[in-house]
Amino acid sequence: MQHLAILKSFDLATPVPTEGGFPSRSPIDGIELARVPGTPLSEMPKMIARSRKAFQAWRRVPAPRRGELVRLLGEELRRAKADLGGLVTLEVGKIVSEGLGEVQEMIDICDFAVGLSRQLYGLTIASERPGHAMRETWHPIGPCGVITAFNFPVAVWSWNAALALVCGNPVIWKPSEKTPLTALACQEIFNRALARFGDDAPADLVQVVIGGAELGESLVDSKDVPVLSATGSTRMGAIVGPRVMARWGRPILELGGNNAMIVAPSADLDMAVRAIVFSAVGTAGQRCTSLRRLIVHRDIKEALLAKLKSAYASLPVGDPREASTLVGPLIDADALAAMQAALDAARSEGGTVYGGEVLEAVSGGTYAAPALVDMPAQTRTVEAETFAPILYVMTYSDFAEAIDMQNAVPQGLSSCVFTLNLREAELFISAEGSDCGLANVNIGPSGAEIGGAFGGEKETGGGRESGSDAWKGYMRRQTSTVNYSDALPLAQGVRFDV
Ligand code: NAD
Repeated sequence: MQHLAILKSFDLATPVPTEGGFPSRSPIDGIELARVPGTPLSEMPKMIARSRKAFQAWRRVPAPRRGELVRLLGEELRRAKADLGGLVTLEVGKIVSEGLGEVQEMIDICDFAVGLSRQLYGLTIASERPGHAMRETWHPIGPCGVITAFNFPVAVWSWNAALALVCGNPVIWKPSEKTPLTALACQEIFNRALARFGDDAPADLVQVVIGGAELGESLVDSKDVPVLSATGSTRMGAIVGPRVMARWGRPILELGGNNAMIVAPSADLDMAVRAIVFSAVGTAGQRCTSLRRLIVHRDIKEALLAKLKSAYASLPVGDPREASTLVGPLIDADALAAMQAALDAARSEGGTVYGGEVLEAVSGGTYAAPALVDMPAQTRTVEAETFAPILYVMTYSDFAEAIDMQNAVPQGLSSCVFTLNLREAELFISAEGSDCGLANVNIGPSGAEIGGAFGGEKETGGGRESGSDAWKGYMRRQTSTVNYSDALPLAQGVRFDV
């Protein structure tokens, strides 16, 4: 019943029908936390029309004032941090510290976006014509559709929403159908900020819709949603990306990863082991940036594998609400089955599996022991992303071969090298090194800070969110030339006398 207190804190405890709607089931023990009424598909055009109306007003509000709304959102998130983090733990099964960390990420992006609201800088450009001035300006673009995955049920929304709002755009959010409660809680927190903001925010600035792929498709196909940010599997992105582009919209795709670490002979092995274990088993291997492939120099493989086996043997798997737990449940029974199928496939390709068995850690929950798999080569199973705590261990002989192995998968999200050799470190992050959107040295592949642009190449989709200049993806760029002379010279010296 502890969960009822958290639901009440977001006003979610009462409007819960016992039948119909979307069940929110806790992976901790399989208990149904609530059923959330779905958004009728027929509502989508009306919601999009309301979002367009909100856009007409919001784009006129000065950007620093828009930033004030995001500042208030950050304040409300600080207040609600414990409850929202607790709800993430309940609905997704993250350990307490990771649930709180996800909310901290939301606060961080709000802070970033507030600063950004005074820094949506354009350019002045030298004109080749006398008496002419050129400039580049960034304007609001319109309603932004945001489709998110179950594994970061709140942070990914905030990466998109905080930037979209300061950029002058309304947001329509379709969260994963597996995480409706955390989405409604975010909407409630946003409404608290809105209530304090004043009346220059239009109605329907941020809307949330509850449902499956078909609701997402309404956003994907609407010409009135110029930007569509979609986070999830490569399978989903392969459908969504081309459909958005076919109607001349702008997709921002954040899709699957298959992230590797190269461990060189000079590596600080104790530090590497800590980074490996956190990034391979943290969030039960359900981060897009989770470590899935270990490419180890053959001279140190046995030593490293021995250290990893001993670290894995003592990993506390269980109820994520317990302070001692490091590995919580997988999201559902399908995820457990996919993990077992991948381990079977790896065995059939010559892999030796350590761990990986299904555990009855809490009755009704979906738990598995993290798996280490000693692989003879980078096989087809290793090339696919299985969203579970499986770490494939392979060897290399020379550094160029290791980089080739790192790059020889379809995904391109995150990557890292552990080495004390400066040449190897610099080569890894050079043009001839990792082909990923994220490339780290002596740090694991997961746990990015919000200040950098986040995203990846190849089948990861090419989108960038969060920090750096990712905000430009939520605006339209305009180049303006002003002629303040009394002549009309043409560019490139073209003559056209009439
Ligand atoms: P998923 O693809 O099953 O679902 C993601 C979202 O897409 C859900 O909201 C779902 O309803 C929606 N969706 C599915 N089909 C759709 C369609 N045809 N049209 C519109 N919307 C559709 O993914 P998941 O299982 O929730 O999440 C895990 C995946 O997400 C992993 O592959 C992981 O790597 C990826 N992920 C990537 C990032 C990143 O930033 N690159 C971050 C988190 C998760």
